[in-house]
Amino acid sequence: MAKSPQEEHPQKAFGWAARDSAGILSPFNFSRRNTGPKDVSIKIMYCGVCHSDIHFVRNEWGFSEYPMVPGHEIVGIVTEVSSEVKKMTVGDKAAIGCMVGGCDKCDDCTKGLESYCRDTILTYNYIYHDGTRTYGGYSDWIVAEEHYVVKFPDTLPMDSGAPLLCAGNHCVQPLEVLWTQ
Ligand SMILES: [Zn+2]
Ligand SMILES: [Zn+2]
Repeated sequence: MAKSPQEEHPQKAFGWAARDSAGILSPFNFSRRNTGPKDVSIKIMYCGVCHSDIHFVRNEWGFSEYPMVPGHEIVGIVTEVSSEVKKMTVGDKAAIGCMVGGCDKCDDCTKGLESYCRDTILTYNYIYHDGTRTYGGYSDWIVAEEHYVVKFPDTLPMDSGAPLLCAGNHCVQPLEVLWTQ
């Protein structure tokens, strides 16, 4: 029998979830995985509301699964990094956009163009590599592979900068390049 969201992973999380296509979010206790060797854990400070979230919540694209925690314009503070993490450290401002994984093998993934990967794993409403569901940023914290996390500039306000993680971003690397120029 499939595990319930609360039983999937050892780390407790809290968010706001849609339970059906009515368009209403309600409090939701779920779980996230431990910080794996390439992962970064982030305390979420802000998350933008994108119209895609509304499409997903209302099942307007026809493939929504519930309960669903939306949110893919995530900005927060790094709370934990694992041994293989290179570019982040605890206390950094960090951000996550619409995807948290790819196949890591195709031509697009190996060129850093994961947004073109046919097996892109979106930040929520998708199935992660370990077979569990992804939950988005309308929640208190998130864990993701470092490759899909970008450093957020100290010079940009976290609240008003959050929407850049979707509308301003076409894949992970270009946003970082933009911010470092
Ligand atoms: Zn790929
Ligand atoms: Zn969006």
